[in-house]
Amino acid sequence: MTLADARIALKKFFGYDNFRPNQAEIVQSVYDKKDSLVLMPTGGGKSICFQIPAITLDGICIVVSPLISLMKDQVESLRGNGIPAAYYNSSLSKSQEQQVLNDIETESIKLLYVSPERMLTRSFYDLMQQMKISLFAIDEAHCISSWGHDFRPEYSRMKFLKKSFPHVPIMALTATADKLTRKDIVTQMGLVDPIVYLASFDRPNLSLEVRPGNKRIEQIVSFVKSRPNQSGIVYCLSRKNTEKLADKLRANGIRATHYHAGLPPNKRSEVQEEFINDQVPIVCATIAFGMGIDKSNVRFVIHYNLPKNIESYYQEIGRAGRDGSKADTVLFWSYGDVKILTDILTSAENQSDHTELKLSKLERMRHFAEAMQCRRKILLAYFSETMTEDCGNCDICKNPPQRMDGTLIAQKALSALARTKEQVGINLLINILRGSNQREIYEKGFNQIKTYGAGREISYIDWQSYMMQLLNAGLMEIAYDQGSVLKLTPAAKEVLFEGKKIEMVKPVDVKARVEAAKKKAKAKPKRERVRDELFEALRTLRLQLARVRGVPPYIVFSDATLEEMAAKRPTTDLMMNEISGVGERKMHLYGEQFKQAIIDFLRKKEEAGEKVTGSSHILSFDMYKKGASIQEIAVKRSIKDLTVLSHLSKVYEEGEDLDISVFIQPHEIEHILKALPQLQVPYKMSDIFNHFEEKVPYDKIRFALAHYYREATVE
Ligand code: ADP
Ligand code: ZN
Repeated sequence: MTLADARIALKKFFGYDNFRPNQAEIVQSVYDKKDSLVLMPTGGGKSICFQIPAITLDGICIVVSPLISLMKDQVESLRGNGIPAAYYNSSLSKSQEQQVLNDIETESIKLLYVSPERMLTRSFYDLMQQMKISLFAIDEAHCISSWGHDFRPEYSRMKFLKKSFPHVPIMALTATADKLTRKDIVTQMGLVDPIVYLASFDRPNLSLEVRPGNKRIEQIVSFVKSRPNQSGIVYCLSRKNTEKLADKLRANGIRATHYHAGLPPNKRSEVQEEFINDQVPIVCATIAFGMGIDKSNVRFVIHYNLPKNIESYYQEIGRAGRDGSKADTVLFWSYGDVKILTDILTSAENQSDHTELKLSKLERMRHFAEAMQCRRKILLAYFSETMTEDCGNCDICKNPPQRMDGTLIAQKALSALARTKEQVGINLLINILRGSNQREIYEKGFNQIKTYGAGREISYIDWQSYMMQLLNAGLMEIAYDQGSVLKLTPAAKEVLFEGKKIEMVKPVDVKARVEAAKKKAKAKPKRERVRDELFEALRTLRLQLARVRGVPPYIVFSDATLEEMAAKRPTTDLMMNEISGVGERKMHLYGEQFKQAIIDFLRKKEEAGEKVTGSSHILSFDMYKKGASIQEIAVKRSIKDLTVLSHLSKVYEEGEDLDISVFIQPHEIEHILKALPQLQVPYKMSDIFNHFEEKVPYDKIRFALAHYYREATVE
């Protein structure tokens, strides 16, 4: 087997033109019968690494996968591409099981997905002895390590594979990269001199944004409303919050539901199904949601609260944009969240040896949220990757913070705090500075202090930002053990009494930022992919086809594929084949309908007075196929009869199924083509016209030439 074969299979079955970085090398290592360890982020394209060898090599590839729902999804998606695959686990009925056994015996499947439990049974061992196995792929291989976050004891018992099948290569795959886990996988699986492929963990298609957590619901509503029909997840800290938030979104006319581990199992799988099948676009969920969901077209992930650590944050936002298409992430945060999380981590029932570690991880998370430099740099640095340049796709890069002299603001705030005898929290301090009439202020006599109302001209929201900056600068701190009141630090004295200057960042206006980002997006050159009216039409068609076939929409085509169709508007088989994600099977199953949808769309555009470029001849052909005469087409499209004929000749030349005998007879073609050897290439119609002394009409010449070229391209 060679990489050339692999590439052919990639195009034929998946409709992809090229391997992504590392994929080709990994495939080659299987051909070389080497063990490998593949570390790639979610959505990086791990599956292709074992699926292509499985398809191209003799025998069956056995894939070990820990989650039944993932197996089902992968098998469905393989079958959708015309690749025979099956899964073998406890969810099968007796007769389904028998079917799988038959398929194994007749070698009519290329991939067999099994759970580790099944893999460890005696009967499966006997079965494997009789099979021709091309490769073992161990998916989610981090489950083998007790260091990892998802330890599964059965995984650690799979060492026998290498001993029992020393000649079958093993590929271990995971999206978890830490070094300890990596080493564990290699030793526990007994991999022999494995090649390690470590892909970058960057997900450039995910935008990163952090917003202050005030008016979250309003912000979420407007965010979601600007993305109609897009799937997204909103992660909340508490179960109750998921319900409340979903209620509020619904009250704002948004289709949303909630999910958490406290729901009965049937309700939980119902929500999952509805989400996967694009029936409910938005799920407000606790972090229990997402594990085992392979939905590739999640277009955004919002964190309603600050996550506990960067690992979780990265894993959760990683559920967006697995199809490689653009997706957005927004993290809301406030000091309130930090407090709640700190309370949870330090509560009596959660006290353990790890508490310190967990608190420091939370601290890193907070630093990320407060950062004033490219967020992707910080994220990747956390995973020990260095980025030399700023990413251009995070809020900081898109809208670099503007610095200003914040000395006066700092003085006002710190002095007000000092005058309250350090007895107030953030909100009360802001209210004092703004001269609010809040009852508590009067009761405690804070309206008497000198700085009462000294910061009236600054909005509440901006004050919040300044307070955070003062905290981050270490000028004050929150005494969590004293009801979260603020305390001055020694550094504050330098500002208050020694004239130390403080630099601050201008608070960002979220609205202005969103507007600015929109403008920038508009100014960008035309992209390869678009989401427009046509995209929506194709999406609707995808949903219908998915319903008919009983599969999730993304199994029909991914969002990325639809976006490319919307941008390139393929109206012929040739053009359709060029679209990434359209392999042979999908071309056969859906090509015609998607082509037709695009043609219908173009016709409507033309009827509305827009000029259709590129596919004009196809529009004429489409009308002709449906029975319209040349004249009718010409009138309807406001073009000349001769133009319609030239359209049809072009269509014929491109190889479409068209009977031209009504326009020209075979002997006429023969007659016209006889002139060619005496003429210069490239053949000009006018030359032929003159050659026959203007006696042969142009449309016949055109059809004859079309015939000539059509034959010339058919090998
Ligand atoms: P992972 O298992 O690493 O999370 P997947 O294997 O599900 O990622 O791949 C993520 C997405 O990228 C899928 O939609 C997949 O079809 C697509 N993909 C993988 N390899 C390629 C490729 N070479 N060209 C185009 N798309 C690809
Ligand atoms: Zn950036």
